Parts: sequence; C-alpha cells; structure tokens
Amino acid sequence: MAFSPSQFPSKLPSVKTTIFTVMSKLAKEQGALNLSQGFPDFESPKKLVEEVNKAMLSGLNQYAPMAGIAELREIISEKFSKLYNQYYCPESEITITSGATQAIYTAISTFVNKGDEVVLLKPCFDCYEPAIEINGGIPVYVQLKSPDYKVDWEEFKKKISSKTKMVIINTPNNPTGTLLEKKDLLALQEILKGTNILLLCDDVYEHIIYDGQTHQSACLYPYLKERAIIASSFGKTFHITGWKVGYCLAPKELMHEFRKAHQFTVFCVSHPFQKAIANYLKEPQHYLELNNFYQNKRNLFLDNLKGSKFKFTPSKGTYFQLLDYTNITQEHDVDYAIRMVKEHKIASIPISPFNTNAIDPKTLRFCFAKKDETLKKAADLLCKIN
Ligand code: GLN
Repeated sequence: MAFSPSQFPSKLPSVKTTIFTVMSKLAKEQGALNLSQGFPDFESPKKLVEEVNKAMLSGLNQYAPMAGIAELREIISEKFSKLYNQYYCPESEITITSGATQAIYTAISTFVNKGDEVVLLKPCFDCYEPAIEINGGIPVYVQLKSPDYKVDWEEFKKKISSKTKMVIINTPNNPTGTLLEKKDLLALQEILKGTNILLLCDDVYEHIIYDGQTHQSACLYPYLKERAIIASSFGKTFHITGWKVGYCLAPKELMHEFRKAHQFTVFCVSHPFQKAIANYLKEPQHYLELNNFYQNKRNLFLDNLKGSKFKFTPSKGTYFQLLDYTNITQEHDVDYAIRMVKEHKIASIPISPFNTNAIDPKTLRFCFAKKDETLKKAADLLCKIN
C-alpha cells in the first residue's frame, strides 16, 4: 500500500491556527494598530538584554542543568518566601520551563490519562484544551458569564466527579481581566479538600493586578498547596514574551513526575537567558512596580475611551481590557473583529474562541501593554466608531 498522510487521523481534529496568530497576521496585512496578541510594543529592559549578552560572552552557551540553573531556582524560592511566606525547595520543587505554556503542557501530559476529566472555567486561555485532548483527557466546562465572570462554586461542585483528575485556574484571568478572590480560593479549597484532584494554576499575570488587590496564590491555602502545580512566566513580568522562559512549582512528589516528562521534551531551557533573569530577579522592584506601570496604562486607555460607544468594566488584572460593543452592532465577535481591522485599522481578539461554542458575548479583548502614544491612537480610532 502506498504511503498516504491522510491515513493518520488527527489527534486534534477541531484545532485551528490560534486566534492570536490569525489576528496578528491580519493586523500586519492591513497595516492596522495591533492590540490583539498580548505583547508589549515598547523595548524590553536594556539591563536584562545586557545581562544576556554578558552571560553569553562569559561562556554560558552549553546545556543548563535539566531543572534550571540553581541561582534562578533559588531566587524564585526566595520570591515565594517573601511574597507569600511559603517555602518551595529549589532543589526538588522548582523547574525552569520554556514559558508557562510548556509547564502547562508538561503538567497535563504527566498527570492526565485517557478518560480523565479536567474542569475548566470558561472563557479560558487556548492552550489548555488541546493539551488535555491530545492526552485522551476530557475537558469539563464551567461557563462564566459577562460582565463580571464570577464563579458559581455550587455549579462548579456539580462538575466534579469520580473521573475528575485536575482543575485548572488562571488568575488574573486571560481573556477576561478578572481575579479570583480570597473567598473563591476558600470555596475551591473546601471542594478539593479530601479528594485526589490536582490543581493546575496558570499564574502568568501574578504581578499585574490593579486597584490595591493582591494575587491569591494557591500556595497560601494548605489544602490547595498540597496539590497545586503553579505555572508562571517571565515573559509578561519583564516584557520579554519572545524569550519563552517560565517556571513550574509543585510539591516534591508531583515535581518528581513532572521532571520525567520535562527532561524528554525540552531537557533544559536556554542557559544565558536563565542567568540574565536570575540577576534581574534579585531586585524585587523589577516585578513589584509592574502593578502601577500597567494600571496607568489601563487608566490612560479607558480615560481616552470615555467618548466612545463601547461599554466596559475596568480590567482588574492582566494587560487586557474587554470592550462590549452591543451599542454599535449585533455582529458575531469574530466577524466584527475582522471587519474592525479592515475598516477601522485596529486589531483586537474576539472572545468566543475562548468560550464553549454556544456563547457569543459581543465582546472584544484589547491589549494595553503598549506605548502611551499607541494607546491614545487606539482610543482615537475606537472613539470614531459609531
Ligand atoms: N498570551 C498571549 C495572549 O493572550 C498570546 C500568546 C500566543 O500567541 N499563544 O494574547
């Protein structure tokens, strides 16, 4: 029989090119302002770039240790002690990953088996479901509703079954810009306590929280910490989304299993980048000042949108702002986002690709990790739409 690629049925039949790639590409083709995919349009910190150069020139160009360089794991451990008063052992409970996406993928493929259920709060970031499905797992959805996207923990509880292997949370949340509060984590703890369910936390926006709120890390709650796999990234925190360096924290026994998969997917992460980040992380103001930095940008964007027809609740965290366009059109969000790029020269991300198919929230997500001048230009363009 002749070789035929079509004889390999897709393991991910419903997966298409991500909406981030689609919208960024369209923005480029149309010469539009790109507030779609979440990345800064300003420079990365010069000091950090110099540190990478220094590390390369000093000869750190061969494999790093499999779990990451000790110096970086130690400084991450210190950060958790200082911020949350929680100890993670650098030797056995922290691994440096190729961004949070790899940490999430590795955690899921390490623990989710065929037929296992994984509970997701929708809308959620797009990398969770394919990782679950390619491993034979079954996503189970709890649909949150606009505009506040609060979790109804009674409804959540009904989705837990004897097949539930894992729950995934993401706070601050991409794409909604909402937070889980202390009472949410307490409710979740009450539900998971006494079960054998893992908790995977996507905490990449941990340092981008507004209006005096604080990050509710699962490690603050003992019955969550014992089962929590925390994935995070330096991409958002240090304006270096292209470096793809992140980390994963988990109790020793879980981390031991995680590393078995990690060592045969990436083995280790780029050595000079780890060294540079370790040095930069030693000065806590580099992440502590982020809240104010992005809160000012959010405020600038929203102040300049006051004359527009969009409705919004200010983002509570992340560098994303949702805008409701029901006063302008009733089009489906994907159609409207595409038309907006073509006609108004501004790109955003429609929300329906993050939802289960039934929901069309007539909402677009705008990234405000941009120069002030970009945000003013964007607001000008949006104010002209009626
Ligand atoms: N995290 C980025 C966002 O939400 C996108 C990352 C990606 O393109 N996969 O926009």
